[in-house]
Amino acid sequence: MSVESNTSAESPNDRSEDQPGAETQHGAPNFLRNQIRDEIESGQATTIVTRFPPEPNGFLHIGHAKSIWVNFGLAEQFGGRCHLRFDDTNPAKEEQAYIDAIQEDIRWLGYEWSGAVRFASDYFDQLYAWAQHLVREGKAYVDDLSPEEIREYRGTLTEPGRPSPYRERGVEENLDLLERMRLGEFEEGSKVLRARIDMAAPNINLRDPILYRIRHAHHHQTGDKWKIYPSYDFTHGQSDAIEGITHSLCTLEFEDHRPLYEWFLAHLPVPAKPRQTEFARMNVNHTVTSKRKLKLLVDRNVVDGWDDPRMPTISGLRRRGYTPASLRKFCDMTGVSRAANVVDIAMLHFAIRSDLEDNAPRAMCVLDPLKVVLTNLPADHDEVFEVPGHPAREDMGTRQLPLTREIWIDREDFMEEPPKKFFRLAPGKEVRLRNGYVIRCDEVVKGDDGEIAALHCSIDFDTLGKNPEGRKVKGVIHWVSAEHGVPVEVRLYDNLFLEEAPDRDKDADFLDHLNPDSLVTVQGIAEPALADVEPEARYQFERVGYFCADRHACRDGKLVFNRTVGLKDSWAKIQKKQG
Ligand code: ATP
Ligand code: MG
Repeated sequence: MSVESNTSAESPNDRSEDQPGAETQHGAPNFLRNQIRDEIESGQATTIVTRFPPEPNGFLHIGHAKSIWVNFGLAEQFGGRCHLRFDDTNPAKEEQAYIDAIQEDIRWLGYEWSGAVRFASDYFDQLYAWAQHLVREGKAYVDDLSPEEIREYRGTLTEPGRPSPYRERGVEENLDLLERMRLGEFEEGSKVLRARIDMAAPNINLRDPILYRIRHAHHHQTGDKWKIYPSYDFTHGQSDAIEGITHSLCTLEFEDHRPLYEWFLAHLPVPAKPRQTEFARMNVNHTVTSKRKLKLLVDRNVVDGWDDPRMPTISGLRRRGYTPASLRKFCDMTGVSRAANVVDIAMLHFAIRSDLEDNAPRAMCVLDPLKVVLTNLPADHDEVFEVPGHPAREDMGTRQLPLTREIWIDREDFMEEPPKKFFRLAPGKEVRLRNGYVIRCDEVVKGDDGEIAALHCSIDFDTLGKNPEGRKVKGVIHWVSAEHGVPVEVRLYDNLFLEEAPDRDKDADFLDHLNPDSLVTVQGIAEPALADVEPEARYQFERVGYFCADRHACRDGKLVFNRTVGLKDSWAKIQKKQG
């Protein structure tokens, strides 16, 4: 399947939708793409090198998917490279499990980093040498103030800071103290290394920022080698320079750090001068995108782990049934700008729905089974319909649909006393069985409790096929043979948060806004073709929605389907209204 031809000359190759980089025809504005294109056209840039720099302190979320799409996508589009570099300067919060999960997520999204996996900790020796260089140049000093005092001396947005009494220490003393910090001679918190820039700078980040802290911590990459760890600011730009990154793309909260990023590059003998450019974080309503908050949901068992299908993590979205192509398309649809924005979650639903509409095979599954006895079929009737796997995709072949005397239909497709516009089943009324005959409801059978136990219906045998002579009925319902259907567990997921902006109020607990009905589990009956479903297979359950075979449960031999998204397209409706 090839995408519509793209006139904006952004993707030189014809690509299929399931390849990364194929989505530019949806093209929301992307100022980074335009900027890099201009640089290449004017000869200012030749090969572009980007990096994705996650901190391995949690699983990646939809916001990271955006950053991955930006960094890997731009490199790919302009024939450059993208590095994966773990920003691992805080060993207390980092774990190997996160390192593994992050790599799996990136690959699943369809991207591959250039070269080996990199770690900021690979550069600890070089960074230390550069710290010594700054000390020798009189541009860094060891400070004995406590963390509280440092904060106090730093001043505020309206007041300049004050110099630390240790600011004028001599070079030799500073070099000696720094070396002893490294060797672990001092307690945590007793000293730091600071740059000597300007305590009165209007930008607080330039008021002698901290370069190294003492942390007697074991590090997942460097073991017990280091007793001091560099700050993010002292690490990031220099790592970019070491790797020859040309475009260091990050989110807006780093804008105020850019002068510091540039200060280090200007005052150290770095091999290259990367440039930092910021873009707005992507936020999605009805969800939170902060690893800290997501970790809280996991730690408090609000959800079933980082990849719970309600989580906005990449692995959660995957387990929910999202495809890599749908997430890339979503990133493309939401564009890249410098204006902070919140994306409607309906747009995410639209991206997956349109993918699955085209690419998911159809199946029938009854979620709330009501027995129907087809009274004019013999007890041993076993007719098999061969029906298309997908109405528009011959390549998906056909499936076998057995019809027997007893079938299941969904309880909500029958009403004993229907309102006027109810076109499904009712006493004396007719309806078509999807892919099958027209039936009429002759009798409602009730149990001792007065509840409807079964329906007795009769088939009109002259009604097979799309337009059998003159027989037209308004309603079509899905159904499953009672004899051949397979019991399945169906997990009906909904937004985790009722509130549009669950973490808007900084003082309130975002957990107060949890949706108590974010997961409803039902026992359904599916057509027999689903008996040996592959983990992660995606289907449209006709008339019900899109579902995905749970990758864990199905591997354990259970039949569990997660609802990815319903059939109704609210985003298209919203657009229509606005357009
Ligand atoms: P969180 O606040 O969730 O922990 P983070 O920014 O601290 O996010 P990192 O692991 O440091 O997480 O992020 C790796 C990269 O992903 C960074 O370049 C960061 O700017 C980017 N990123 C994180 N969240 C978003 C988002 N919502 N939209 C776009 N990019 C994001
Ligand atoms: Mg971070």
